[in-house]
Amino acid sequence: MAEENPNKSSEFKPTTSDLTPSKPADTHFPKKSKLSSSKAKKHDIPKGLWSRCPKCGQMFFKQELEQNLMVCAHCQYHFPMRARARVLSLIEEGAFQELDADMVSVDVLRFTDTMPYPVRLQRHQKSTGLKDAAITGICRMGEHCVALGVLDFHFIAGSMGSVVGEKVARLIETATDLKLPLVLLCASGGARMQEGTFSLMQMAKTTAVLTRHSQAGLAYISVLTDPTTAGVLASFATLGTLVVSEPGAMIGFTGPRVFKDAAQTSLPPGFQTSEFLAERGLIDMIVPRRELKGRLCEFLSYLTTESKSSTHVM
Ligand SMILES: [Zn+2]
Repeated sequence: MAEENPNKSSEFKPTTSDLTPSKPADTHFPKKSKLSSSKAKKHDIPKGLWSRCPKCGQMFFKQELEQNLMVCAHCQYHFPMRARARVLSLIEEGAFQELDADMVSVDVLRFTDTMPYPVRLQRHQKSTGLKDAAITGICRMGEHCVALGVLDFHFIAGSMGSVVGEKVARLIETATDLKLPLVLLCASGGARMQEGTFSLMQMAKTTAVLTRHSQAGLAYISVLTDPTTAGVLASFATLGTLVVSEPGAMIGFTGPRVFKDAAQTSLPPGFQTSEFLAERGLIDMIVPRRELKGRLCEFLSYLTTESKSSTHVM
């Protein structure tokens, strides 16, 4: 379930050889000069300025990578993307009215694992600038007025607790009331274990309000990104009128190791990737991130007739 992942492997770290002091000087050369050059080397390449592609090993300036929507220019690997950057990449400039921005979780169960739940929440709030793992709002995307929700894997693995579930449910209800199409970008490790049953209840709640949205004849496009798993996959993520995915995304109810142990069988190549699932019909289409906004606008034009006006919030 929820785990902290935050893409640590992609960050540049100096090698041990950069940091290891030389052997004690034999006679003439003081140890100090060697150590100071080691420090200078570390100082020259500040931590966090570079990212290494985990697929091809290519190094990138973080700024360069961000300008390329966090896609490796060498092998097209799709890095995890922050929710706010996602929103900005999809909307027209300034055309986003956020909903329920200040909603925060309550530690009903007084849950403690390696740390108390409130401490974990505070740490993620500080590191991500988010109150919880979802951003929701009404936006303009091309010529369409859209209810948009984005999950952020950097916040406790994008896990769905009561805040994520409630924000997504309220967004869907707003979309139904305003007769708007819905776009949800999913990235989640599943239910949030720190909230126990309250977390699992969000699956039923989001599914119920989605049914009303669907019965109103409104379109819902679900975009699965790496990774989309467990309770989110088993509820709103796979209920779209159209279900699309980014390339190479890990999508499955549980990880391949657990699945392999439970099934006592070997797994086929590419198991639980978006390509594997697209071949078998769970996903309608794979769309590279740089084409996503254009394709979403295209799909919305096919699926909607009423969202092109600016009579709603935008
Ligand atoms: Zn790469």
